[in-house]
Amino acid sequence: MKDTRLIVLATKNQHKIAEIKDILALDIQYRTLSDYVKISVKEAGRTLLENSLAKAAFAFKLSQKPSLADDSGLFVEALDGAPGVFSARFGRNDENRIARLLKEMAGQHNRRAQFKAAFVYYYDANKYEVFEGECVGEIAAEPRGTQGFGYDPIFIPKGFRKTFAELGPKSKNRISHRAKALKKFKKYIENSLL
Ligand code: IMP
Repeated sequence: MKDTRLIVLATKNQHKIAEIKDILALDIQYRTLSDYVKISVKEAGRTLLENSLAKAAFAFKLSQKPSLADDSGLFVEALDGAPGVFSARFGRNDENRIARLLKEMAGQHNRRAQFKAAFVYYYDANKYEVFEGECVGEIAAEPRGTQGFGYDPIFIPKGFRKTFAELGPKSKNRISHRAKALKKFKKYIENSLL
């Protein structure tokens, strides 16, 4: 069957929207939260999954269309998993968040970290599926690269020497936390379209 499904992406983050479309590479019609409301959902949950579920449920209630939400964060081992679920609230803007993280990592030898993503696909009243992905790596000594967004300039995925911001979307979208979660979602959606 030809894939003419419509999905509402429950985010206003243009970088995430571009990555999701690129990774899924499906013949799907997309809408985003901005097509419905000016406000955004406040992240108040204690886990990525709680936040993602709240965003997906909000988008579904508003649109009455299947909605896909992504909540993600950077978990740094030496900082006991911080900023984690608070990654977006760790500073005013990307530059500020990166500066704070590097400051808290000063003198740390253990630079291990992982990006995690929790996607929720909310497709009917009280009906949803969860898709999660992780990408392990290290925190760089200083920001490098200009591509991507968020913490990309300081995250070096395992097996690479460059940061996500240096690698660019082609490589990032093959190995990222988002790519891993969305691969599972893609399989699910393709099977449900058969
Ligand atoms: P949220 O999922 O919109 O709450 O974003 C969580 C925080 O993690 C934000 O500060 C994002 O910039 C950051 N973040 C999420 N995914 C990525 C990524 O793929 N690269 C870099 N930063 C990310």
